[in-house]
Amino acid sequence: MSKHRIGLGIDLHRLGPAKTCRLGGVDIPSDVGPIGHSDGDAVLHAICDACLGAAGMDDLGSLFPDDAAVNAGRNSDDFCKEVHARLQAAGLRVQSLDVVVEAERPKLKAHRQEIREHIADLFDLPVDHVNLKGKTGEGLGEIGRGEAIRATAVALVAST
Ligand code: MG
Repeated sequence: MSKHRIGLGIDLHRLGPAKTCRLGGVDIPSDVGPIGHSDGDAVLHAICDACLGAAGMDDLGSLFPDDAAVNAGRNSDDFCKEVHARLQAAGLRVQSLDVVVEAERPKLKAHRQEIREHIADLFDLPVDHVNLKGKTGEGLGEIGRGEAIRATAVALVAST
């Protein structure tokens, strides 16, 4: 049996008026931001779900219910640290992460390196093992109308 396992995570958040938009743990100046029970960080939520998927550990909503007061406004770095710790305890280690963000705004390009470094830090990875791509919705659907942001992540996990 291969020691490698792959997981997929997808997270969508509605966008509303804001001063910043937190993505990948970095606060990006923006006139729109995600509306969510926690800080609404779709990138970190998708990454957590991808890691949990690879580990066969259900999903983020099971670990951190969105109707629990303790998770209100919570910094999603906490979720990543918990997921990382659970994988380690199960003898698993994240090897690489690749993320696609679909949104009209904010633009990620100027912040991509900082986000990659932050995520690499959270999962104890070299920065070139974390990738981030930004796409628009080409004017189509809820993404294209600027009403929502969606992040999709894949994680490669290996047993240690
Ligand atoms: Mg979410």
